[in-house]
Amino acid sequence: MEFKAFLIKYAEIGIKGKNRYMFEDALIRQMKFALRDVGDFAVHKQLGRVFAEAKSDFDFEEAVEALKRVFGITGICPVIIEEDKEFDHLAEVCCQFMDEQYPDKNKTFKVYGRRADKRYPMNSMEFSAEMGSRILDKFPEFKVDVHHPDILLTIEIRDRVYIYSDVIKGPGGMPVGTNGKAMLCLSGGIDSPVAGYMIAKRGVRIDATYFHAPPYTSERAKQKVVDLAKKVAKYAGPIHLHVVNFTDIQLAIYEKCPHDELTIIMRRYMMKIAEHFAKEGGSLALITGESIGQVASQTIHNLAITNEVCTIPVFRPCIGMDKQEIVDIAEQIDTYETSIQPFEDCCTIFVAKHPVTKGNLKVIKHSEEALNDIIDDLMKKAIDTVEVIRIDA
Ligand code: ATP
Ligand code: MG
Repeated sequence: MEFKAFLIKYAEIGIKGKNRYMFEDALIRQMKFALRDVGDFAVHKQLGRVFAEAKSDFDFEEAVEALKRVFGITGICPVIIEEDKEFDHLAEVCCQFMDEQYPDKNKTFKVYGRRADKRYPMNSMEFSAEMGSRILDKFPEFKVDVHHPDILLTIEIRDRVYIYSDVIKGPGGMPVGTNGKAMLCLSGGIDSPVAGYMIAKRGVRIDATYFHAPPYTSERAKQKVVDLAKKVAKYAGPIHLHVVNFTDIQLAIYEKCPHDELTIIMRRYMMKIAEHFAKEGGSLALITGESIGQVASQTIHNLAITNEVCTIPVFRPCIGMDKQEIVDIAEQIDTYETSIQPFEDCCTIFVAKHPVTKGNLKVIKHSEEALNDIIDDLMKKAIDTVEVIRIDA
């Protein structure tokens, strides 16, 4: 017996009425995106259920892995679909199903029959009881436990009959596309890919901005960010990665501003430019991988100063996390190995030995005045020369 289809469970809390359609449509779109390289799948909804049915050969494990990356899914149930609803036939199929799925029969089970098709000659209770006894007749080693069964054999009688017992845990969250779009400041580090993943999990589409400083940062460092964006896109869907040449701005800051303030000032210009592309592309917020106290630029004082240039919300989902907690997620979403590759991103080149940890906004603004004559042109050039790469996972 081979599984050719999956029944998808999703949390329905708070998705009544119009929201429900939006939720389901986005879920279907993301499932199609996730499965597109696995095989030819028909993904459709039917009376409060979403199904993915294979129309070609496919690798089962690969399909499950792909579906595990679709936010909004709480459970993935490999399902057998039968056209013939006749009871004796179904009893045979269910016995075979139990036999093949559970070679070790030293287990308890319960049949949960659901009759959505009210014309079916038996009601749900009769159906479940009769099916249970047919299975017991055939395999007396199984035992029935209606309260805490090891195996819940679910049989849904609808247009066709759907038989499943396994529920593989999905990632939860909301389908990407149900909550607008945000701009991720993506560096080559560990934190920002995790931050992007966490916001995408709430249903938010992601675009990204990366600042590089050639020749101080290498082509390889840029490739690393592209690779990270691809990994995030496996969950978030397609990402427009904006690669901004930040060299001239960085050199100007280096030349004209106090070195212990370099990082703060640089971060302020990064946020301004990221916000420009956010607004241009319809993103309603920025996302960073910042976490309080992790490095000098992330003290609460300095975060406040960085934030001061932004006119849209800045989401920092890692803000209260320890490094190890962030690393754990990075490993789980498979970005960690890429993030720890040793290619410098532009922040690490121009770092001061003793950066200011308790920045003062007035002082920083005063230091920035030294850039007054040139910064508008430099910002314009950085924006005009952006390279936009479409990342498709
Ligand atoms: P990460 O591990 O995400 O690089 P980090 O701990 O190295 O973070 P910083 O270098 O201070 O911390 O950067 C803080 C945040 O600023 C990053 O999480 C990212 O969102 C953004 N950022 C830093 N450098 C860049 C860059 N070169 N391009 C785009 N965004 C950046
Ligand atoms: Mg970094």
